Formats: sequence, C-alpha cells, structure tokens
Amino acid sequence: MIKGASTIVKPKVDYMRVSVTDLCNLRCVYCMPPDGVRRMSHGEILRYEEIERLVRVASGMGISRVRITGGEPIVRSGVVHLVELLGGIEGITDISLTTNGHLLPGCARSLKSAGVRRVNISLDSLRGDRYRKITRVGSIEGALAGIEAALACDFDEVKVNVVVIRGINDDEVEDFLVFAGERGIVPRFIEFMPVSMRSVPGGDGFIPMDEIRLEMERSHSMEPAGAALGAGPAVYYLLDGGPSMVGLIAPVSRGFCRTCNRLRLTADGKLRPCLMSDEEIDVKGPLRSGASDGEIGVIFRRAIEGKSFTCDFERVSPCGRKMVEIGG
Ligand code: SAM
Ligand code: SF4
Repeated sequence: MIKGASTIVKPKVDYMRVSVTDLCNLRCVYCMPPDGVRRMSHGEILRYEEIERLVRVASGMGISRVRITGGEPIVRSGVVHLVELLGGIEGITDISLTTNGHLLPGCARSLKSAGVRRVNISLDSLRGDRYRKITRVGSIEGALAGIEAALACDFDEVKVNVVVIRGINDDEVEDFLVFAGERGIVPRFIEFMPVSMRSVPGGDGFIPMDEIRLEMERSHSMEPAGAALGAGPAVYYLLDGGPSMVGLIAPVSRGFCRTCNRLRLTADGKLRPCLMSDEEIDVKGPLRSGASDGEIGVIFRRAIEGKSFTCDFERVSPCGRKMVEIGG
C-alpha cells in the first residue's frame, strides 16, 4: 500500500431488514403519498418458505440478525410462523420486529414465544389529533394498546421510534422522555429522511438532530451510553445519569453510511444494498427459476461486496420506491 494512503474499513454486513409486505393499515405522511402506492400482487410477494430459504443462504454469508418490517408486517397473516421458520436457521441469533403497534395486542405473546426478542414501535405523537394527522387514518389508542401489549410480554427490548417533524411534533420531545421513562422504554428520535417525499404537508419537515439534542440538554444531562443497543445507527445517551436512555438517529445531518452494516430484502424479492440508492438486485427470479443455494449465495455476496459506504443524503433525490415499499 502507498505510504500515507487511507483505507476505508468496511463494516461487517451482518444485519438484514426483511420486508414481508407493502401493505399498511396506516398512511404516514412521511412514508407514503396520500393515495398510497401500487399494490403488489400476491404472486409478486415472497412466500414465507422463500424468505426462510433466502435468510438461510444469507446466514451463510454472514447475516446473523434479522428485523422483520413492512409496510406493516403484522397485517400479513402468519407472521408468527415466519418468525418460527427464521428462528430455526442456524446462525440467526437475533430476530426483531418494527411495527406501528396497532395489531400487537392480538399477537405480541405469540411473537415472543416464536422468538422475537426486540420490538420497535412507531409512535410520532402522544396527542390523538396529531397522531391522526401524521398517520392520516390511525387512532392513538391503537398504538398505545400495542405498546402496553409489548410491555406485558417481557421482550428483551421495547423501543419507541419517533420521526421528529418540524412544526408538527417537535414540541413533544420532553413529553416523549416522560412517557418512555415511566414505562422503561427507550425512545428514539429520528430525522425525517427524504426517501419517499421531499417534504410533508406544511413544510419541508426536516429538523436536524443537534437541535433536538440541544433542546434536551436544557433540562437533562446527556452522557454517551457507550455500547450500542441493537444493530442500528442510533447513538444512545444516558439521561440524567440513567437508567433512562434516549437514542438519536441522524441519517441526514450526520450520515451513517460509513458504518452501515445492513442489507434490505423487499417483499417482492429484491436485495437493496443501500436505502437511498435505487440499485436493486433481483433474488426472487433466480430463486423461482431453480437456482441452487450456492448460486443464490453469489447474489448475496455481490450485494454485500457492492455496497456503497459513502452515500450523501443531502445530495440524493427521493428514491423510486417509497419507504412503505422498502421497510425503513
Ligand atoms: N409499519 C412499521 C412501522 O411504522 O414501524 C414498519 C415499517 S416503517 C417503513 C419502518 C420505520 O421507518 C418506522 O419507524 C417509520 O417511522 C420509519 N420511516 C418511514 N418513513 C420515514 C422517513 N421518511 N424518515 C424517517 N423515518 C421514516
Ligand atoms: Fe405504515 Fe409504517 Fe409507513 Fe406509517 S411508517 S405508513 S405505519 S409502513
């Protein structure tokens, strides 16, 4: 190597977000357009046994952690069965789920028994009218019932994801800290990403995470919590010396591409090496045409090795697919 030349140390890609559906029972303003997205046909969507096979091959390529997402993953029937299938794969050590919570009361216990260890629940406002405005159709009672159902099941972790949107919910940060602290939940504040839409009704919606952090520091001490919780890009802080914690996710203002350890598998069987790039590698076609595990493994290797670690959110345009189709 040339003396003085710097090398990028690529992180190990060991985490895969698996979207099981493009359908959702909500219509969040930052995630999909008001009229929704084109609905995939039944035949386009990977069957659970197909997902199991792909995850099995992926585990041989270094994937050990899987997060089930969507759309809303629990609207797809049999998702508990999928968790059982994935739990039987050697090398998969962590199965988690991201949900809007509404359907959790009916299945949280089964999900836990099947092997889900960690649950993230999206809740962008604690006020009913705002929650409705953000989700377009949702009632806050449904999301809160989902959180209580998750808490009653003793998952290893329950976190609440809050997309902070300027002029819509940015005055609720302290309320969320109190809400989460009372329940022993970790709240995670997330910057609005221009993945699906450049803006949300009423403005560009973007608020940099430093602004949120400075606001919290007016009333709380925030000490970096060290070891990350989970597999993601959040930076965690101990609040007022602990044990309460808060996670901040700043993909736009800080970027996390250099440390990105993930792949995405869409519900219709495409591998996406990068959230913000429209590059997709078809894995369903080869799977359904009789490719061997070795051949599918080569496709995973190509997706992992071809991953860019230098994307810039500021410069990219919204990508072709909406977040509801990618899985967050
Ligand atoms: N329906 C489930 C839910 O809402 O939790 C799972 C899928 S959703 C696409 C996954 C995550 O992506 C959610 O936490 C959601 O808030 C987040 N998300 C969607 N669009 C976003 C955007 N434009 N910026 C930031 N986060 C976004
Ligand atoms: Fe549905 Fe989740 Fe997107 Fe909201 S963020 S519309 S709940 S997929």
